[in-house]
Amino acid sequence: APAPESRPFEADVAKLLHMMVHSVYSDRDVFLRELISNAADACEKLRFEAISEPALLGDDPKPRIVITADKEAGRLVVEDNGVGMSREEMLEALGTIARSGTKAFMERIEAAQSKEGAQLIGQFGVGFYSAFMVADRVDVVSRRAGSDEAALWSSDGKGAFTIAEADPAQAPARGTRVTLHLMEDAKSYAERWTLERIVKAQSGHVPVPISLVEKPGEEAKEIADGAALWTRPKSEITKDEYVDFYRSAAGQFDDPALTIHYRAEGRHEYTALAFVPSTQPFDLFDPDRRGRMKLYVRRVFITDDAELLPRWLRFVRGLVDSSDLPLNVSREMIQQSPVLAAIRKGLTNRVIADVEKLAQNEPEAFTKVWEAFGGVIKEGLYEDFERQEQLLKLARFRTTAGDGWRSLADYVGAMKENQTAIYYLAGGNLDQLKASPHLEGFLARGVEVLLLTDPVDSFWVTTAQGFEGKPFKSISQGAADLAAIAKADAAEAPTAETSEEVTGLIAFAKETLGDAVSDVRASDRLTESAVCLVAADHGLDRQLEKILAASGQ
Ligand code: ADP
Ligand code: MG
Repeated sequence: APAPESRPFEADVAKLLHMMVHSVYSDRDVFLRELISNAADACEKLRFEAISEPALLGDDPKPRIVITADKEAGRLVVEDNGVGMSREEMLEALGTIARSGTKAFMERIEAAQSKEGAQLIGQFGVGFYSAFMVADRVDVVSRRAGSDEAALWSSDGKGAFTIAEADPAQAPARGTRVTLHLMEDAKSYAERWTLERIVKAQSGHVPVPISLVEKPGEEAKEIADGAALWTRPKSEITKDEYVDFYRSAAGQFDDPALTIHYRAEGRHEYTALAFVPSTQPFDLFDPDRRGRMKLYVRRVFITDDAELLPRWLRFVRGLVDSSDLPLNVSREMIQQSPVLAAIRKGLTNRVIADVEKLAQNEPEAFTKVWEAFGGVIKEGLYEDFERQEQLLKLARFRTTAGDGWRSLADYVGAMKENQTAIYYLAGGNLDQLKASPHLEGFLARGVEVLLLTDPVDSFWVTTAQGFEGKPFKSISQGAADLAAIAKADAAEAPTAETSEEVTGLIAFAKETLGDAVSDVRASDRLTESAVCLVAADHGLDRQLEKILAASGQ
């Protein structure tokens, strides 16, 4: 066989590995979750490929993950009979940073101190490379399903790896074997009880059975049965089981704010298990706005790209298991399927309904959800016209009426006599908005103004129909029409003065500014400031103008 070929890691991988090796991160156990989750993914990929090519399963159709501890040799082996990797796939997967989570981690780490960086490992879960937290050498032997050849990848995590042909007789018949040569201070990861404890705590609900071999050559003992958690009745599942499942299936490290588990019967039968996280996932504002709900058909994983929820619910993690779709449905067909459209609608309704319930029954918990995801949910206000009213009810806002969150119902309930519109001011941040001269006349009259700081705000307010018959009106735009609203304190509230001096000043300003402005007028919106810029009545709001200008439009 040709000699092993040595290759340098991509620069980012080298950096990441350096972190791993020198990590002071205390919860090193997470490396095992990463390896097990890769093994389970590989088994699920194989199950999917075997739908159209059953021969791939050969005479070994049952997926499995086997962990072998070798205390004497100081080694730990994680082996699966999944889809495996060809030599080229290995080069691609184990030499570069492909996954976006790891990329996001790297970006954060650039900014952070090394100690904070260590904390970040726990929050992101950095995939395969985390093996180097506990091992000073890692060997990966793999054979792609259906192939006669096998390849061996090996590295000490110090800047380079080797790749070579592997003796097929020594390689798994199918799938991947990852061997960790444990560091001196990590030898406990070759102990049965340590492994059993970690697997049960972290990976007890991966959908592939996991067994443990205490010593090479001994019999395997099953430590996790691979039963799909979502098929069990809700009443028999504990909160901890849900949390474990959420963490291992969604790659999150927090506790879910909401757990939604139900079985739909009738025209379409499916089970949904979905979670609203309590913290923002790293990819929430990725430009592709991809959702992370997985689609299963009768417990076979099909795709995580089925758009089971609208984009503005992309923070929801979990899965749908359908009983109606055919197993051999292609990923492309799935997008067009009316069954899927029905599931999507049902699931969307359910998620919103449960969030509404949370708002009603546990306002504090709901506020946390809104703080993390309100900016995303509001995208639905202009993307999903049908749901606008429902989402406006759910939405919470910062306003001039104190520091808390206010609903539009709160706002409308506090409207002044003769007030006809819901006023808002959009801008980059709250402090800036609170200092705006545009607010003066409104504050003087005690008229509440919504303070909108999310980028999406400038978009939805312009298309929104209003709330309970009250239109949204930008206070940085058009005439302020405050005259009809009674002044809180007559001495302080301004009026649009039209004395001779003011008329003269207006004429002067018009002449001096020329084409730079379309109009100059007296206004009752100011109390302290002499002048302010406003947008035209039917033009773009000032903040929207700025956003569009910044994006080059
Ligand atoms: P992720 O799992 O998020 O893609 P990882 O760093 O954990 O990122 O793994 C990188 C890639 O390596 C995987 O996407 C997969 O292609 C490949 N890989 C890792 N472990 C296995 C395995 N046991 N079987 C097949 N492929 C694997
Ligand atoms: Mg992984």
